[in-house]
Amino acid sequence: MNKIREKVMQTNFTKALKRLIIVAFCVVVLGGGASAFLLCTQIGEAVTYVQQEEKSENEYDRQKEDGDWHGENREKRERYDKGHPDLENAITRPSTAAKAVVGITGMLCFLIGVGFWLLVAAWLYQAAVLAGMHGFLWFLLGLGGNVGAAVLFLLVRSLIRKKCEACGSYQSVKAQYCAKCGAALSAKCPQCGAACGKDDGFCHNCGKSFEQE
Ligand SMILES: [Zn+2]
Ligand SMILES: [Zn+2]
Repeated sequence: MNKIREKVMQTNFTKALKRLIIVAFCVVVLGGGASAFLLCTQIGEAVTYVQQEEKSENEYDRQKEDGDWHGENREKRERYDKGHPDLENAITRPSTAAKAVVGITGMLCFLIGVGFWLLVAAWLYQAAVLAGMHGFLWFLLGLGGNVGAAVLFLLVRSLIRKKCEACGSYQSVKAQYCAKCGAALSAKCPQCGAACGKDDGFCHNCGKSFEQE
């Protein structure tokens, strides 16, 4: 358990995400391309089938309006009501190779999805620990809410933590100095001593200007 924790803390998630995106891109392009290539007969047949269905549906509507519900048209209508039983015959059964490629591509896409999900949760753990927040809690929230939890995390962190410009670590919003590198996180008003933001133009307490004279 501790080893996993160490590993998560050492992971460069920007790099990991980039790698995952590259893998996902390759799977979609290669797997999708190969599937489309192996299923081009079936895709063509499906398009023809849909076009024909549309055509005969229009015909059926017209005949219905004309009151011609008998004979061949009636049969057509019945076929319609039975849920287009012609579809199975209209499309050639795909080859084993095509089925295998589609299956493997689907499986890889699923694994990539799971990988992304875990990556977000693990990143939340790391980011929460680095910000002095509850790592395991945010990991669980990440497993449950994923990207939603990440958005919530960024919101909560922006409310209770501020970033030290000098070392990049996250410190309490109330902190005056960075606990990691000692850099000043806020400025003190030279006139009244109130704690002010480092970039403030004026003291919020006494109104003194911080502009250099
Ligand atoms: Zn610092
Ligand atoms: Zn002041």
